[in-house]
Amino acid sequence: MSVEKNLKSRNMMKFFIVMAMLLGSSVASAENKQITSPDGKLVVTVSDMDGRPSYSVSYDNVLFLKPSPLGMIANIGDFSSGMSLEKNVSTNKIDETYELASIKKSKVRYVANEAVFSFTQQGKTIYDVIFRISNNDVAFKYKMYPQGETLSCVIKKEATGFAFPDGTTTFLCPQSKPMGGFARTSPSYETSYTADDVAGKNGWGEGYTFPCLFRNGDNGWVLVSETGVNGGYCASRLLGHKGGTYTIGFPQEGEANGNGTVSPGIALPGETPWRTITVGKTLAPIVETTVPFDVVKPLYPAKGEYTYGRGSWSWIIGMDGSTNYKEQLRYIDFSAAMGYQSVLVDALWDKQIGRDKIEELAKYGKDKGVALYLWYNSNGYWNDDAPQTPRGIMDNAIARRKEMKWMQSIGIRGIKVDFFGGDKQMTMQLYEDILSDANEYGLLVIFHGCTLPRGWERMYPNFASSEAVLASENLHFSQGSCDNEAFNATLHPFIRNTVGSMDFGGSALNKYYNADNAPRGSRRVTSDVYALATAVLFQSPVQHFALAPNNLTDAPAWAIDFMKEVPTTWDEVRFIDGYPGKYVILARRHGDKWYIAGVNAQKETLKLKVNLPMFSNGEKVRLFSDDKVLQGGVKQIGIGKKQELQLTIPCNGGVLITK
Ligand code: CA
Repeated sequence: MSVEKNLKSRNMMKFFIVMAMLLGSSVASAENKQITSPDGKLVVTVSDMDGRPSYSVSYDNVLFLKPSPLGMIANIGDFSSGMSLEKNVSTNKIDETYELASIKKSKVRYVANEAVFSFTQQGKTIYDVIFRISNNDVAFKYKMYPQGETLSCVIKKEATGFAFPDGTTTFLCPQSKPMGGFARTSPSYETSYTADDVAGKNGWGEGYTFPCLFRNGDNGWVLVSETGVNGGYCASRLLGHKGGTYTIGFPQEGEANGNGTVSPGIALPGETPWRTITVGKTLAPIVETTVPFDVVKPLYPAKGEYTYGRGSWSWIIGMDGSTNYKEQLRYIDFSAAMGYQSVLVDALWDKQIGRDKIEELAKYGKDKGVALYLWYNSNGYWNDDAPQTPRGIMDNAIARRKEMKWMQSIGIRGIKVDFFGGDKQMTMQLYEDILSDANEYGLLVIFHGCTLPRGWERMYPNFASSEAVLASENLHFSQGSCDNEAFNATLHPFIRNTVGSMDFGGSALNKYYNADNAPRGSRRVTSDVYALATAVLFQSPVQHFALAPNNLTDAPAWAIDFMKEVPTTWDEVRFIDGYPGKYVILARRHGDKWYIAGVNAQKETLKLKVNLPMFSNGEKVRLFSDDKVLQGGVKQIGIGKKQELQLTIPCNGGVLITK
């Protein structure tokens, strides 16, 4: 830009500022605008009281979020105060259907009211806040406009917050400090939840990872998360403040060894990710929500039809040493015997098996209908010290695409990329680059040691699943995790797993986490029925179960038989009963077949009557259940006229009902 032009535009700007001040002085009262859900129960009120943008949320006339801040501070201005809400609000009705085999519900109809609230500062339009309200979900994002000739900006800080009513309790897991944990790989969404805690804390000083569950006393529940995050922004967390307000926090400076910026940059006009608020009187809307997928769109078409399904992996029982040719052959045979579609070959295969032998394994598997997934370390210059190889391939496009071409040529089904450690914008770009390259070569992608997937099932058609949870590896690593296994399982369907596929890698039928299934190391304290129930409770279109070849002979036949028939894709989910941290019972449908699964983490045996309208009077179903000492079994029962069943689930036990 020429100096002359620059001066001219500055003078213009001064003129507008003076005009805006003159105009502004005549506007005294704050604007208050409302938008409601299609059924009218969920109400969002947007305001510019005192020049500070805010919104509040109520459901059925009960307040769920008090006036909560909106806005941000960018490197081109502070847009959190001195803001005016435009009188004109443009509205739009949304009624869309989409199909997505990889999430909890295969066909979704999304009906919502959209409203675009424009905020100005000194007469200039700065951003719109776009709200979409469906019957139980609020989603909102910012659309930032160019300022004069400025076509990009850096968001230094968001004011965006969530102010909960007094008495709200929390179900949260803390964000960990950067470059900590195993081989300096944190943060990777692998911390423990605290259930029913008081509001107003801030985790370990670094806030909380999404999604975040809140209980508004007896009024109901709120799940806060975000979706639509890609290389266009960073992934965020929630920072807790005294009084029960939580605000959007950006990644920590030290993530990715200090490389990359904390503050996301956006081109103008440009948008932030969606922040989502799911509200329910019961937990049903929390369990059944599809909002993470409703408001995003596919970013590219699928290269081909992707095959999901079940598989086995030696690593969970045999660890790094088991990644050898002979053991992988044995697991291919095992997957074939189970009728499974894959084997996941974990870390160190490049050194302990080698590429030539991997080709042989791929060919051997192909003849048995078993495809391979290969593990990779994500790392480049920016992160961890994890020595597990292959390293230095997934971090750059040249090596990555060459490797993927080779994988495609030998029929590899997908990759599992591990050890990311961070939510910076550059890391989000890496996730996206791996996904889009993998799609070019027809590969499915599983992430481990990673961030929460935020709408990725729909955005990236070859995205299968992510860890982002204290997963099955911890059951191998420590008895403490085994002792807490059921407690954690009662949280995931309401929190982590309800917003995205969760690669837990569980359902072990070994009594002990070692290859001999001998009494040493970590001992599983949960029942066999529990293992079966979690295969239904935990949703991921690709499941590598923690089963071992010895389970064909040392596990009960009814248990192994069920693991042969359990699906991994679902058409529908229904919340039946539960309380996070105590117990959970839900129903999933595959085709016309329902699976009701439940587990109990409470010391007391759970006895409750459930209503199962998905079964008809006189229908015969199988009931898998545990006795007092967690000895499981299956029996056939008939469904009565009232479609009710009395269930008994001991501590660390499970229940499973299906035709
Ligand atoms: Ca992990």
